[in-house]
Amino acid sequence: MTTNTEKIFTFIDTYAQSKEGLYLEAIIEACEKWLQGDIQPELSETVTKEEIRRGIQLAILKGMKQHAQPHHQMTPDSIGMLIGHIAGKLAAGQQDLTLLDPAAGTGNLLYTAMNVIGNNVTATAVEIDDILVRLSAVTAELLEHPLTFYVQDALRPLLVDPVDITVSDLPVGFYPDDDNAVNFELVPAEGHAYSHHLFIEQSMNHTKAGGYGVFVVPANLFDSEQAASLHPYLKTRTIIRAVIQLPDSLFKNTAHAKSILVLQKPVEGVVKATPDVLLAKVPSMTDRHAMALFLQKIDMWVAES
Ligand code: SAM
Repeated sequence: MTTNTEKIFTFIDTYAQSKEGLYLEAIIEACEKWLQGDIQPELSETVTKEEIRRGIQLAILKGMKQHAQPHHQMTPDSIGMLIGHIAGKLAAGQQDLTLLDPAAGTGNLLYTAMNVIGNNVTATAVEIDDILVRLSAVTAELLEHPLTFYVQDALRPLLVDPVDITVSDLPVGFYPDDDNAVNFELVPAEGHAYSHHLFIEQSMNHTKAGGYGVFVVPANLFDSEQAASLHPYLKTRTIIRAVIQLPDSLFKNTAHAKSILVLQKPVEGVVKATPDVLLAKVPSMTDRHAMALFLQKIDMWVAES
């Protein structure tokens, strides 16, 4: 039997193949026509948000292969689900949760997390690449997720009220705009700043006191050339809550391995004992038993904090 996800992918793919021009543009067109009710995939009545997200995601992955761009990198579902699980537990019981992803790309990480967390979530997405924003905007409409989008350099002033949780798979590398980098504490004395460092600072600036930042960061974050300036920033401006190493098997090259960093923004005037930092390693994600135990460990850590 064909699943809803497959039907959605086939619907978009058939449309895109019938068009000349960029496949990614044709995905946007197909989704817009679906939203307007001009044409649509024939789905079973019980289609879920996850089935819609996955169907569109498969088409975007195909489009990205055909028109490779170095910054077109979608966050894999396994990472999105883990981040959704962590964010959902940190926000458990909280009504009307607000999220921010300052480097939202296709929105895949954000929507995977929103689907895990549930219904009472609104989010803000910032992304510099226009086509990725348009892809993520049509996806959000089809998923009926309440989203606000900003197409801009997220390290420029952001008109975003502080949110409960910032989630982001951070762009890694040098930030070329030295004139703007000087507005951040994490600007180095010489040379270009690291984008991912400035994104951490910007994200925490837009997170509520007591709120969290859950970031996908390079696994060598604490050993890099500019780590010396990151350490004091994290120590004085944030509370490091967890550093979770992702399995190497998720990355083509171990030099590009990533971890999940969970930070909390301190509440001014409230002095609390610094909680223990959770240092953990995610097991092979195909090992269901090991994964279930790992998620239990995360749940216990959240419950204890
Ligand atoms: N989570 C995303 C997804 O699932 O599609 C992928 C994020 S990707 C690792 C990082 C994103 O940051 C890219 O889409 C890139 O265009 C964006 N980016 C890089 N520099 C940026 C900047 N200064 N402001 C806003 N977005 C930026």
